[in-house]
Amino acid sequence: MAIATINPFTGRTEQEFEPHTDAEVEERIAATHAAFAELRRTSFAQRAEWMRAAAQLLEDDVEKLARIITIEMGRPIKGARAEVLKCAKGLRFYADHAEEFLAPEQLDDPSAVGASQAGTRYAPIGVVLAVMPWNYPLWQVLRFAGPALMAGNTGLLKHSSNVPQAALYLDTLFERAGFPAGSFHALLIPASRVEKVLRDPRVKAATLTGSEPAGRSLAAIAGSEVKHVVLELGGSDPFIVMSSADVDRAASVAVTARNQNNGQSCIAAKRFIVHTDVYDAFTRLFCEKVAALTVGDPLDEATDVGPLATESGRDELESQVADAVAKGAIVRTGGFVPDRDGWFYEPTVIEGVAPGMRLHLEEAFGHVATVYRVADREEAAAVANGTTFGLSSAVWTTDPDEEDWFVENLDAGAVFVNGMTASYPELPFGGVKDSGVGRELAAAGIREFCNLKTVWKG
Ligand code: NDP
Repeated sequence: MAIATINPFTGRTEQEFEPHTDAEVEERIAATHAAFAELRRTSFAQRAEWMRAAAQLLEDDVEKLARIITIEMGRPIKGARAEVLKCAKGLRFYADHAEEFLAPEQLDDPSAVGASQAGTRYAPIGVVLAVMPWNYPLWQVLRFAGPALMAGNTGLLKHSSNVPQAALYLDTLFERAGFPAGSFHALLIPASRVEKVLRDPRVKAATLTGSEPAGRSLAAIAGSEVKHVVLELGGSDPFIVMSSADVDRAASVAVTARNQNNGQSCIAAKRFIVHTDVYDAFTRLFCEKVAALTVGDPLDEATDVGPLATESGRDELESQVADAVAKGAIVRTGGFVPDRDGWFYEPTVIEGVAPGMRLHLEEAFGHVATVYRVADREEAAAVANGTTFGLSSAVWTTDPDEEDWFVENLDAGAVFVNGMTASYPELPFGGVKDSGVGRELAAAGIREFCNLKTVWKG
């Protein structure tokens, strides 16, 4: 795939970029390696000052950055702007909390291990490679980079080939904010050149957000090099609505949970699992609200849903729906490619999806919702857990006993009760099963790329 900005609204190539040569990649690895020697010796207070400056730059550049996001991957402009501001907030969060998250700990009774003092401290590990996706082109990167740099690590970014302008902005952001030159660099390279970078002895660990095949491939290479990885892969998150739920509110939130960012979110609710008592009411409201979404030019402030980011992503979604329909599923709203330029697909709700259909098994990376009817909580949990994914989940109920039961019984990295899944700097983020390994954000996220050093003094 060429490294290029291809506007999903028009399908036209706006700008192409030459990939970095081997010599340029070497220069960047050497620079991030050298910067580590410097950054690790700086104080938390110093790094926090630079991190706050980076947050300020994002805020100053919000309009320019939102436009880059929208032009490169089609996110409606109001969401793109919100993404930029969320990144600034995330960077400030780590400026404020990194020192506390990485504070040394001492045993209360060191004599138990024959020491006068014993405990742990967190040390940075060096250059970390981040392989990142296009769907939140700033947030996915900065939720890694903020904690990594605050811990004293340096970073190399291999961004998706379709968001080079976002990558190039991030390439200089931290240096502009005051961090030592080389603390963070982007590599404009195709996926086929990631292996060589990951095997470089100066690169100590890697994180990848993206598809399962990409994650498996990266993890296999990292495994053979005995390097730590964090993987944040796909999801097919359940959104369960039980009979005691506020159905109207659940239906409104369901629309956002499925359609935000044109449905291209790993934590989007994808499978709507509804108790039979409220199934008809929920599905009717849900379909009405989905059909009322404004689909159009993502640069228009009034647009709710824009085009899919890539032509292949749109074609994939179309073929998943076609497969389900051919096998007996029923489209309640949407379900077609509209007659217009750009990689549009109508926001869609389908019922009657069953085992054997691709949509039942695979992640739908776009605004297609499947609705399932269930008789009780056991069946709801069985459908919810009946997937290879386990990223997040949502459950709507006003019965406290049922809340606890679902929190206990859903196999996912998170359970949101009476709300939709979102990522917050304050809360750990990550999945189980094929959705990934490790955690991002909160204290857990910054500790992933640290050496937890045991210190024993006799
Ligand atoms: P990919 O996983 O292919 O791309 C994500 C990143 O990984 C990109 O930087 C890509 O580079 C890189 N990459 C791809 N293959 C490899 C590899 N073998 N080794 C190292 N790096 C690799 O996602 P796509 O953009 O192709 O989207 C396909 C599907 O992935 C989606 O339909 C969705 O299911 C899932 N996805 C999930 C995301 C999430 O948030 N969890 C985000 C994006 C996608 P390059 O662009 O150069 O190929």
